[in-house]
Amino acid sequence: MSRPSSVPPGATPVLRPPWALAGGAFANACTGCVACVDACPEQVLVLRKGKAVFDPERGECTFCHACVDACVPGALRDPEHASAPWAHRARVDDACLGAQGVVCASCRDACPESAILIPPAARGAARIDADACSGCGACVSVCPTHAIHLQLPQETAA
Ligand code: SF4
Ligand code: SF4
Repeated sequence: MSRPSSVPPGATPVLRPPWALAGGAFANACTGCVACVDACPEQVLVLRKGKAVFDPERGECTFCHACVDACVPGALRDPEHASAPWAHRARVDDACLGAQGVVCASCRDACPESAILIPPAARGAARIDADACSGCGACVSVCPTHAIHLQLPQETAA
């Protein structure tokens, strides 16, 4: 199946911080003030091209809300503490050691949502339960072959 996205297969797209305004509204509202970057205790937010970005290679979002609370321009918003932080989910590609017959469970062990299934005896790649995955990114940097990417639903369905 072809991907309806400009993001190449296996690549991680630009990921906005949690609770970012949708689409172009975030880019319009984010002033690049780095208040969210400074507020994040996990240090998983960075500034790229003048806008805040979530970088899962730096670690895991714990959904602590500190970035939202720090964002004075309102580019990150969750006033009722009730909305979903984002739509992306983890996806595993063929670089997974399990797909090559090598035992590994690093991602499963890191996942706080128990959303990763490792087939027994390395008989296949790790599998993500998209309903359980929160997109936190804890599995991304621990993968020794960089086989896990966070992608939006139309990309993870491919
Ligand atoms: S919710 Fe907390 S851990 Fe997640 S990006 Fe915002 S400040 Fe960092
Ligand atoms: S991104 Fe999803 S699969 Fe990966 S650690 Fe977080 S909840 Fe688990």
